[in-house]
Amino acid sequence: MAKPSLPSSTKAASALECRLAVLGADARLTPHRREVFQVLAQSTDHPTAYDVFDRVKSRSAGISLATVYNCLEHLSSHGLIRKVQLDQAQCRFCANLHEHVHFHCTQCDQVIDALPTTPMHAGDFWQLPEGARVNRTDVAIHGLCPRCAEKRNRT
Ligand SMILES: [Zn+2]
Ligand SMILES: [Zn+2]
Repeated sequence: MAKPSLPSSTKAASALECRLAVLGADARLTPHRREVFQVLAQSTDHPTAYDVFDRVKSRSAGISLATVYNCLEHLSSHGLIRKVQLDQAQCRFCANLHEHVHFHCTQCDQVIDALPTTPMHAGDFWQLPEGARVNRTDVAIHGLCPRCAEKRNRT
């Protein structure tokens, strides 16, 4: 029989502990916020608040959609997760805090993380106002994901 591997929730939990340690004690989390973070850390598909609610309600009995919204607001305002806002679409959420931009497939609507090929400094790419200080970069690239591009080529 195969050795049981470490449950992925343990990995997500330790990622959370690392981030909390960096941010200091004021970002200490309630059990609900912790659950919401863990669900998001295990999701790479950039879920909406409703998607997160759908995934968290089985593990956190009695949690409401409003609570999930509040948790997501709290986590993003403390820099523990990122909000992903694409055009007029519903806000999505991302727990990947490595420097990255988002690739959005206009056909199937999936959002994929795109990491820079070399360390990225916004000022090297964009002509920012002299003396500006960058806190974060929100860039979205729109196009067709490999699967949709392939389908388009075949028709
Ligand atoms: Zn696609
Ligand atoms: Zn992302």
